[in-house]
Amino acid sequence: MDLEDRVRRVREQVAEAAVRSGRPADSITLVAVSKGHSPESVRRVSEQGLTLFAESKVQEAKIKISMCPGKFRWHMIGHLQSNKARDAAFLFEMIQSVDSFGLAEELNKAAGKAGKTLKILLEVNIAGESTKFGYRPDAVLADLTRINSLPNLEIHGLMGMAPWTNEVERVRPLFRELKELHDRCSDGLGAPLPVLSMGMSGDFEVAIEEGSTMVRVGTALFGAGRSGNKSAAGG
Ligand SMILES: *Cc1c(COP(=O)(O)O)cnc(C)c1O
Repeated sequence: MDLEDRVRRVREQVAEAAVRSGRPADSITLVAVSKGHSPESVRRVSEQGLTLFAESKVQEAKIKISMCPGKFRWHMIGHLQSNKARDAAFLFEMIQSVDSFGLAEELNKAAGKAGKTLKILLEVNIAGESTKFGYRPDAVLADLTRINSLPNLEIHGLMGMAPWTNEVERVRPLFRELKELHDRCSDGLGAPLPVLSMGMSGDFEVAIEEGSTMVRVGTALFGAGRSGNKSAAGG
């Protein structure tokens, strides 16, 4: 499958899953995860009409974004150390991986200096995996209220990542729990949170069926090879 076919196929799968969940296809935001892929790959994907990209490392993003002229939007989806908050606040429209009040405070300061309001999601470690970052589900509500009082941040919702599995039905209950937590957070704030970011290449259809509004898809769009650095060496 070439790139055009991959993008078309992912879009179809997103649309069909949306319809199965009783929602219009255009209510799901498709984020193209470009980590490990070159600016040239970003350009080729953008030619298919995708303009929202996500990166998981500030350093890689800094270089890539400067090499990707055009009106692209960028989200941060990887673990962020507080000392990178300043760069992150400049580079990204949204930080999906806020996982502590301390980080939120740093981002709030940095956004203030950058003169912007930064959109954020709180990352939830939905399966309690020690290898992943994010809030424990039972710790989200308390910090939500504190973070909501920071003037330069705007909480848009939650982000979660399911464990890797080759039996995708096993992650359905985790997505369902995250959706329930998302609803409780909306109730807690007294305002609907518009974004529930869940679903990657291997599980985005199930995630959409369970209420995801934003899927983060890398491999299924860009292909399996991390083309980024290799292409420079001719490989
Ligand atoms: C890498 C990554 C993705 C995309 O993963 P694929 O399996 O390549 O689609 C999504 N979300 C996060 C947080 C990631 O780090």
